[in-house]
Amino acid sequence: MLTLKNKIVGRQRSSRKSATLGTAPSEEHMYQTLYNAIVEHHLPPGTKLPEDALADAFSVSRTRIRTVLQLLSRDGIVELQRYRGAFVAQPSVKEARQVFEARRILESGVIPVAVRRATATDVQRLRKMVKMGEEAVRVHDRRATIKHSGDFHIQICDLLDNAILTAHLRDLVSRSSLVLAVYPPSGAMVCDAEYHERIVNQIEAGDAAGAVAAMLEDLEAAERGLALEDQGKASIDLKRVVTQLSLQRRSA
Ligand SMILES: [Zn+2]
Repeated sequence: MLTLKNKIVGRQRSSRKSATLGTAPSEEHMYQTLYNAIVEHHLPPGTKLPEDALADAFSVSRTRIRTVLQLLSRDGIVELQRYRGAFVAQPSVKEARQVFEARRILESGVIPVAVRRATATDVQRLRKMVKMGEEAVRVHDRRATIKHSGDFHIQICDLLDNAILTAHLRDLVSRSSLVLAVYPPSGAMVCDAEYHERIVNQIEAGDAAGAVAAMLEDLEAAERGLALEDQGKASIDLKRVVTQLSLQRRSA
């Protein structure tokens, strides 16, 4: 994710004029606009993302749109299908449930070891991460909320200093980020900060059983909150969505 972001930010901004926005949007801007449109459900799972319509919406060339779609695809948010083009990724409800089941099994095994290993500094770092997550929720930044929530779980796993486990959890976390993105929870929450605070409290108290219970509660609540149902395929006015979101971001 960091590498991806660096790649986008590192790209040169074009000075080409855009009819919609005054100046041609950067790839970072286009990436974020589409990412937000997906996680905020303006573009539901399975929506086709035609290059020409997006190029028109952003007033940029199809080549630049293709680059942005490739970046979104590397992030798992968009699926590129040969001869068919780009679509908003659509993990099935079954896959979504499997991701959370795998996380419950892995993380309930990880956390008792993390409880034994955690130092006062580790606990402090985790508390700081909970605060960052709370702040992201407060400013309604869903992208940051999903990211901080995933980072919190990975940080706990990191306490085991086991690269294999961390790699597995990273994979599961990015899959659940996608699930959270395409089946957004009904409320504003991804992982409720309260649950994360409870987990940290149990780690600090050295209570392994309590920490396992708090972890399972957190993951179960996250899964319960998801809108896991098949989404209808309404027709989407890409240009309207892009223009609205671009304007929102500019005035934010
Ligand atoms: Zn959580």
